[in-house]
Amino acid sequence: MPGPGAYWFGKEEMDAVMRVMQSGHLFRYGSEDDPNFLHTVATLEKEFANYCGAKFGLATSSGTSSLIASLVGLGLKQGDEIIVPAYTFVASYTSCIFLGLNPVLAEIDESLTLDPGDIEHRITARTRAIMPVHMLGNSCDMDSVMAIAKKHNLLVLEDCCQAAGASYKGKKVGTMGDIGAYSLNVFKTISSGDGGLVVTNDANVYEIAFGMHDQGHKPSRLGVEVGSRNVLGLNFRMNELTAAVALAQLGKIDTIILALREKRNRLKKLIGEPKGFKFRKLNDPSGDCATLCTIVFDTREEALKVSKALGSKTLDQSGWHVYANMEHVMAHLKKIGQPHTKGAYPKTDDILSRAMNISIGVVDAGLGAGWGININSSDEEIEKAAEEFIKACR
Ligand SMILES: *Cc1c(COP(=O)(O)O)cnc(C)c1O
Repeated sequence: MPGPGAYWFGKEEMDAVMRVMQSGHLFRYGSEDDPNFLHTVATLEKEFANYCGAKFGLATSSGTSSLIASLVGLGLKQGDEIIVPAYTFVASYTSCIFLGLNPVLAEIDESLTLDPGDIEHRITARTRAIMPVHMLGNSCDMDSVMAIAKKHNLLVLEDCCQAAGASYKGKKVGTMGDIGAYSLNVFKTISSGDGGLVVTNDANVYEIAFGMHDQGHKPSRLGVEVGSRNVLGLNFRMNELTAAVALAQLGKIDTIILALREKRNRLKKLIGEPKGFKFRKLNDPSGDCATLCTIVFDTREEALKVSKALGSKTLDQSGWHVYANMEHVMAHLKKIGQPHTKGAYPKTDDILSRAMNISIGVVDAGLGAGWGININSSDEEIEKAAEEFIKACR
């Protein structure tokens, strides 16, 4: 039950993998003079940065690696506070915690992304950054987030892991803040099984993030030691096989999003005028990936009734995307003196308890999207899903 890109793994990905195998070079680094070396990782980095309209791209081993490289790239240090929404995947928190940063949670609004009205009163003398998370394929209200960041001199890391291909007012997500982190795991818009990407326009941030991902090395593209290293790093590198799959998927991303939007629009039209619920507020409807169609019911009772009838669940009961369901993260927040019990973010609790996800392209029970359609669903299957939904609402 993966994301739309994985549904469309095909000949393009297989051929690309075979070309890398035949080249004999699986490591991201190789000699510039070797005609057999394909530079697949470096090509992916360049092409993804171009696709996003960013100056620099960095390929990594996962979305989590991308977040860690980004946080280090921004120069965040132990004890710094970073504002993160109370509804996101567990890695948004754990990447901060492993670096000794203190995540400060904030409410979401009816877009299911960071509520700009709940940020400013959480800013303290130690706050250094905001992490807006573009949840469920649609952007945060980036105008408001960026205005707050500017006013308080805060850095912005966009967690774009669920939103490859999404944009806000014509700009790709990840390019409005200081740095953006993407995931290529199997549940995302496009996939290489696992993998990640980072984009930024800041040469200095890029150089440090690169060093973090490769033992402190400078981005020489050759893997030879140049100059001295002033950052400590680990190994978050992508290999050539992964990049071959990711590049083939990148070639499909716009077609994937167009197909999803068409199916989502068809389903919405068939469901008709909402009664007793609203569709999720989209901060930029024209930039939506349409990986999911989120319904926010007027009442908890209605949400429970409909989701149960469909064999799905409300979002508060979905897996590790809800702060209160992450007992290990809550235990850590307790240790650092942050709110850490269910009920600490009442607006988020209320919205999630009344919301359910219909899968359009991302079929993931862990995201509360175990019911719906997928990118290969026929018109008849979409009609059937709409009928079932309407029936469940009665
Ligand atoms: C998937 C995801 C991540 C982590 O990505 P991995 O590739 O699984 O490490 C981080 N943040 C969000 C919001 C995600 O959905």
